[in-house]
Amino acid sequence: MVSSFLDTLNEINQLLPAKLVIKECLKYGIKKIILRTYRIFDWIPGTYEATEIELDPEMDKEHLAWVLMFRHGIAIDPEDVPIWIFYHELGHHLKGKSEWEAERFAMEKYLEWKRVNRGN
Ligand SMILES: [Zn+2]
Repeated sequence: MVSSFLDTLNEINQLLPAKLVIKECLKYGIKKIILRTYRIFDWIPGTYEATEIELDPEMDKEHLAWVLMFRHGIAIDPEDVPIWIFYHELGHHLKGKSEWEAERFAMEKYLEWKRVNRGN
């Protein structure tokens, strides 16, 4: 049980900071993170359902960084893209189905994270 928990944490941590995921999941009542590789046509490689967030660990980070720059005019390091996607899905959990609300939440939380962790 313990090793499987740590394996999962390690897997998450390869995609985005596990510390961030734990903190936000505990804070906002997310009970399950699922990493699943899939190819969907929607531009956000993640989904949410009640208290579960699913992320595609093989998301195309370079492409998504470009899309985010195009959509929102923010420069995002491709390595940070999974953080954005996580916050986008968390935004749905908190604010419902609106893509605009999910994106607004993701931007706010990402910029806050960046300020604290990257100093800009
Ligand atoms: Zn969405």
